[in-house]
Amino acid sequence: MKIFNTLTRRKEEFKPVTPGKAGIYVCGPTVYDFIHIGNARPMIVFDTLRRYLEFRGYEVNYVSNFTDVDDKIIRRSLEEGVDSLEISERFIAECKKDMEALNVRPATTHPQATKEIPDMIEMVKTLIDKGHAYVVDGTVYFRTRSFPDYGKLSHKNIDDLESGHRDEAHALKVSGEDEKEDPLDFVLWKPMKEGEPFWESPWGKGRPGWHLECSVMSKKYIGGTLDIHAGGEDLIFPHHENEIAQSEAANGTTFSNYWMHNGFLKIDNEKMSKSLGNFFTVREICEKYDPQVIRFFMLSGHYRSPLNFADTLLEAANSGLTRIRNAAQDLRDRGAGAEGAEMSEETEKALQEFTDRFDAAMDDDLNTADAISVMFEIVKYANQNRDTMEPADAAGILAALTTLGDVLGLIVVVDDDEILDDEIEALIEERNRARKEKNFARADEIRSMLEQKGILLKDTREGVKWQRV
Ligand code: AMP
Ligand code: ZN
Repeated sequence: MKIFNTLTRRKEEFKPVTPGKAGIYVCGPTVYDFIHIGNARPMIVFDTLRRYLEFRGYEVNYVSNFTDVDDKIIRRSLEEGVDSLEISERFIAECKKDMEALNVRPATTHPQATKEIPDMIEMVKTLIDKGHAYVVDGTVYFRTRSFPDYGKLSHKNIDDLESGHRDEAHALKVSGEDEKEDPLDFVLWKPMKEGEPFWESPWGKGRPGWHLECSVMSKKYIGGTLDIHAGGEDLIFPHHENEIAQSEAANGTTFSNYWMHNGFLKIDNEKMSKSLGNFFTVREICEKYDPQVIRFFMLSGHYRSPLNFADTLLEAANSGLTRIRNAAQDLRDRGAGAEGAEMSEETEKALQEFTDRFDAAMDDDLNTADAISVMFEIVKYANQNRDTMEPADAAGILAALTTLGDVLGLIVVVDDDEILDDEIEALIEERNRARKEKNFARADEIRSMLEQKGILLKDTREGVKWQRV
């Protein structure tokens, strides 16, 4: 598989540190509110990366954090007059509900910053011991110029950064507190302010800096060199640049071999922001659209391209997904009773070609848009050959569609659990007919299908009775 690596600005063949395994760290949300629709993009995109690597046989260790100590969380806790932990735990739980709705699988580990403080203190100590950090009045700063590779990810020159205002367009603003040795230095540990959460440390009561959290949690749960570190493109500078500086200065090894960044999601071609009134949570959008439509929509574009979010585009995603689902339903009906039968060589060959093309798209830097096109081609193939198709062919095509859908996290066959009384009666009628015709296989199939939906049949002298269990 080829991956566009922000570090080298090239597509590179993915070579994991340990063959057959992949350690992936994705920067997660700051949990002070419901996640917004932009936050859903990295979740969906990198969940799809994980699913694809697993589909190709990799054992993936997928780690994604929750930033649960932060100014915004503290502000909200003060507003509500509750502990900041109550805010973060509440929104972690809400975030997990949204992830489940979007069919984003839980990470192997979801570390939380507040639960990893001792390891953070250890890394800061190491950085001080190695001369990469210094203490001023309870604040610990990273000595940026002590790390010669600073700027290698964002491709910024350290001297350009120093002048800061030199290029207004890039707005490379680096805060310049007086006490710092150098305006480029950034905070590793900050002293407590009145009313804020704090932890004891060798430098006094305080809390860790945001960048430090990810360096420590990725090391703890993946260890050594990460295969892939990912997040939204806004994180390249300074967050990821600073993570590299801290981790490589402390550990003396490469922090991550590949860096992947998703493009930004805009609303009606404008930056999403609360002040513009075009800010939507995942929860709000899910009131109007099936969360699967959101997922389908997000994967219809390339993850590195900017993505415009608009009602008309969601409508288009909805009809695209419906087209695939209708075809799947039709294939399911046609494939009934195909158990044990083999599909034709021709269908098998066609499906192999489709699967190869799906893989080729995904191998090309996760081109999910092309992968979805392949799914549409399968639908077209199924429709074109509808009248000549044997049940085994229909079942085979459906299996391929379901498997590829699952790689993208798209649910192709919707199990409608809500079976209506009329449908039950109709199926019982069909079962009676089947029995009369001595088609006991079909009769049994109907009985077990109903059983799976929690409908129990009882053959009595007065005929078949049924009940919901
Ligand atoms: P945050 O909670 O702001 O730290 O964001 C969590 C994740 O969502 C990070 O990977 C961000 O880069 C990403 N993200 C935030 N806003 C957007 C957006 N509008 N489009 C795409 N990704 C975003
Ligand atoms: Zn991070």
